[in-house]
Amino acid sequence: MCEQKWGFIASSKALSRLSEWPRIKLANLPTPIRPLARLGKALGCPALDLLVKLDSETGFGLGGNKVRKLEFELAPDRLEDITCLITAGGPQSNHCRVTAAAAARLGLRCALIINGPEPETPRGNALLHRLLGAEIVTVPERQDRSTQLQSTAADIELEGGHPLVIPIGASTGLGSLGYATASVELFKQLSNQKPSPERTVVFVASSSCGTLAGLLLGISLLELNNVLLVGVSADMSTAEIEAHTQQIAREGADLLGWDGALLTDSVKAIDDQVGDGYGLSTASSDEALRMFAQHEGLVLDPTYTAKAAAGLISWIRTGMVCDLDRVVFLHTGGHPGLLT
Ligand SMILES: *Cc1c(COP(=O)(O)O)cnc(C)c1O
Repeated sequence: MCEQKWGFIASSKALSRLSEWPRIKLANLPTPIRPLARLGKALGCPALDLLVKLDSETGFGLGGNKVRKLEFELAPDRLEDITCLITAGGPQSNHCRVTAAAAARLGLRCALIINGPEPETPRGNALLHRLLGAEIVTVPERQDRSTQLQSTAADIELEGGHPLVIPIGASTGLGSLGYATASVELFKQLSNQKPSPERTVVFVASSSCGTLAGLLLGISLLELNNVLLVGVSADMSTAEIEAHTQQIAREGADLLGWDGALLTDSVKAIDDQVGDGYGLSTASSDEALRMFAQHEGLVLDPTYTAKAAAGLISWIRTGMVCDLDRVVFLHTGGHPGLLT
């Protein structure tokens, strides 16, 4: 019995465990935060306290949110004896790109399970997966990826290799610690800004939910009761996002030995920006892409961040956020997906 692990520990102790958790340094941290004054004006809300946190600039392997999760998934103690990293994703997976970059940097093999046909001329992330030296195993459909992940791992073991399987999106309890850490980083940066708003509303693109789960765990450990985390879905329903987010956040809390209550009411998923589906742009996401570019010089991606930005714009236009709020757009990266 390890009482220390399962007994109640205070959130301050869990926060110190989080800060001491083993990880590999990949990201440029802290990522910058800056106002979006011209965008606020263009949306008719010049007094709105609107900011962006640029996790697009985590840097490693062209950056984005997957870098923070992999810092925990690829901690040195998990890599002993490992010869190969294996993960899965779509043809334009940002997670696969950063995993392939990490494998190259660590001198490991990388196998990527990718759904869809082999592209004739790979572009964007598909090009980068190959450039970074990953071996690509294609499967016909999204739902075939998980079984192939296990069977490729078994094949590599038979050949005498030692694979580390990283679940899709690195959205595990362990990976979520990357965004619990980011949550602490964000609220520390905000505490240096203008004095306390009534509420801080954070918009983030969500799919496999590890990012949102980590943010939830972070605000729960910090006991921040005046935060709303809006997870803007790239594909799943609101019910799926909320359930999955709570589950991953709980797994992350358990790793830290913290059994306090998660602030689950502080998470709201929205799925009204999905349109015709994953990766398919909408009139609103196209408008958001153009507005961020032309008013702020900020480049979004069509699959995730443009839809999250469209959600943010629609909340501003309909008065769901107001001048009493502080509004933060978490830019999760994904740039290569735009250049396909
Ligand atoms: C993966 C990804 C997301 C979604 O993050 P999850 O943790 O899977 O919910 C958002 N934005 C970009 C650019 C991504 O690559």
